[in-house]
Amino acid sequence: MSVSGVCQVCESAEASQTCPNCGAMVCSEHYDRELSICVRCASAARQSDDQTSEIDQSDVMR
Ligand SMILES: [Zn+2]
Ligand SMILES: [Zn+2]
Repeated sequence: MSVSGVCQVCESAEASQTCPNCGAMVCSEHYDRELSICVRCASAARQSDDQTSEIDQSDVMR
């Protein structure tokens, strides 16, 4: 019955938030309360928001 799950970012802390953008369960530490999304989406949102001419996509996780 308990909604248990670990943070999908650090995979160690207990998830307390669910990202409305990607649906990932994350702990409070990896939840951006400013944007109300997980840090993954927050970083992606910030990258697209802050447009730089030099985009390094080599470190995209697969
Ligand atoms: Zn976490
Ligand atoms: Zn997310």
